[in-house]
Amino acid sequence: MTPLVSAKCTCGALQFEASTAPVTQMICHCTDCRAATGRPSCLTAFFHKGLSAIHGPQTAMRFVAASGARTERVACSQCQTVMFDTSEGFPELIGVIAAVIEPPFVAQPVCHMWVSSRVAGCPIDDGLPQHSRGLPR
Ligand SMILES: [Zn+2]
Ligand SMILES: [Zn+2]
Repeated sequence: MTPLVSAKCTCGALQFEASTAPVTQMICHCTDCRAATGRPSCLTAFFHKGLSAIHGPQTAMRFVAASGARTERVACSQCQTVMFDTSEGFPELIGVIAAVIEPPFVAQPVCHMWVSSRVAGCPIDDGLPQHSRGLPR
């Protein structure tokens, strides 16, 4: 597989490759994403699991997200960089925290999610659709 997109953690041990562009990209403002990434919001790029691969030592943290869906966040077991996000709500996709994707990745978010729990004082002025909670199913 020739990777089109690649990502790695801070220490480089945990790596991700995808042979296609992301299916979609979203900016999430939920408290789970904020706590995991230490940022006021989190751009995540979603890829088809079948067209991507993960190599390296990984630690999974399982929890029930605000949406009620069982969710798993995967970090590098060596440096603890949070890299991936999977959910029973979208079983065929893997979310990659965009901050760990290597250049020349282009951020092209389609919407904001969980705007109801965003950090006050951080205005959203990009004109994208805003969902107060998760995506309507
Ligand atoms: Zn690492
Ligand atoms: Zn979130």
